[in-house]
Amino acid sequence: MLDRRNLLKLMSVACLYGCARSDPDLSKLANASSLKVVVVGAGIVGASIAFHLSKLGVSVTVIDKTGPATHSSLGTFAWMNASWAKQPKDYHALNQAGISTWKSLQAELNIPIKWGGSLEWFDTPKRQQRLADQIDEQIKWGEPARMIPVQRLREMEPKVDFSGVRSAAFSGNDGAVDPVLATHAFLDGAKRNGAEVKYPCELLDISLSGRELQSVMTNLGPIAADKVILATGAEPDTARRFAEIDLPQRTTPGVIAITKPMPPLLNRLIIAPGVHMHQRLDGRIVLGEQEGAPDTEAHAARLMGRPTAFPSQDFAEQHFLRMRDVAVKFLPEIQPAELEAAHIGWRPLPLDGHPVLGFSPRRKDIYLAVMHSGVSLAPIAGQLVAQEITSGVENTRLSQYRPGRDFNNVTRY
Ligand SMILES: Cc1cc2nc3c(=O)[nH]c(=O)nc-3n(C[C@H](O)[C@H](O)[C@H](O)COP(=O)(O)OP(=O)(O)OC[C@H]3O[C@@H](n4cnc5c(N)ncnc54)[C@H](O)[C@@H]3O)c2cc1C
Repeated sequence: MLDRRNLLKLMSVACLYGCARSDPDLSKLANASSLKVVVVGAGIVGASIAFHLSKLGVSVTVIDKTGPATHSSLGTFAWMNASWAKQPKDYHALNQAGISTWKSLQAELNIPIKWGGSLEWFDTPKRQQRLADQIDEQIKWGEPARMIPVQRLREMEPKVDFSGVRSAAFSGNDGAVDPVLATHAFLDGAKRNGAEVKYPCELLDISLSGRELQSVMTNLGPIAADKVILATGAEPDTARRFAEIDLPQRTTPGVIAITKPMPPLLNRLIIAPGVHMHQRLDGRIVLGEQEGAPDTEAHAARLMGRPTAFPSQDFAEQHFLRMRDVAVKFLPEIQPAELEAAHIGWRPLPLDGHPVLGFSPRRKDIYLAVMHSGVSLAPIAGQLVAQEITSGVENTRLSQYRPGRDFNNVTRY
């Protein structure tokens, strides 16, 4: 039920994260408990939306055709950041809000997060100078970021070999999470608030009465719905099939390797030339590659069907050893690491690089929530989407992320 405390919370979210088009309609808010919402996709984004909706008293059903955190939210590096790459300033601010929302949710949902910031550097003087300029901009935008000389870096990360490095950018607010644990924590929270989570359950069709949404059809049968949220990540056809619009994406694959638990080696995220790494609280080290897949016919053929796993353990080991060899240069003690799991993740990446959040321009009952940096953004996206769905009021903070925008108007930063 949407009690007075939750109603006030909801209103404060509306005020904090953007001026609503008009004052929230309290009668709509109070009716949230009669609203039936189906969230399609139990990745970290859908799970957070479901949690926030359920907290406001909405009757929520989450469905996933495979299961929670089985796609992008499994094969992700899971770096929570509002770094220099988050451009322009408004989008950067949304990511900053993502990080602060993680900080407030972590205790509520008991999600283990390793904070401590990140260290990043490049291997050419020109790019390194640009990084220093970007950090100046970050400081102006309110990030606790600064360039740190190598003597201090060695104190901060005694196990890292900084040979040839003169300085690195330290972004103090950054952290990393186990995305699978976090997704389950959101879903468990939603279930405690009365939500249902069904899988394997695939959205197959949408049943209408005239133009009014009545229910969604799934392989497990129909589910009644007033609104549907498509949080289906990099799935290419969902928007066209169910929301009657095209959502152009430039989805790219990336390999993530996770080691078996190791003794403490890293205090914070390391974003080094050629490899990204962080050590989870449970001792596992997560490696992310910077380069994409080699541009060969063999790779193109293998990637055609968008696999999320390697065809064999040998392939997985080969990829891991390649990444580990790069990592050893910076972290010699990672040499004996053993592979626990390797994933191929597909980035949900709307063509212009920014999130898609909003109702389809052609269907006022189908809401899309598709984004990269979905780990950084999941908590704030969940809050804002829940607020828009329950209040019926658009939040101006999301105006530039609507699905009807021109995706060809691309600025690469
Ligand atoms: C290699 C890599 C590195 C990344 N690094 C970072 C990072 O460091 N920091 C960061 O913030 N972000 C990062 N990202 C991006 C981030 O992981 C994603 O933005 C986020 O995981 C997206 O979550 P999601 O819930 O939207 O999608 P997903 O996790 O892909 O979930 C979508 C779900 O929808 C389900 N689905 C699809 N169609 C249907 C249907 N018809 N019926 C039912 N279910 C359906 C799927 O089964 C899937 O489980 C990275 C991504 C990759 C691939």
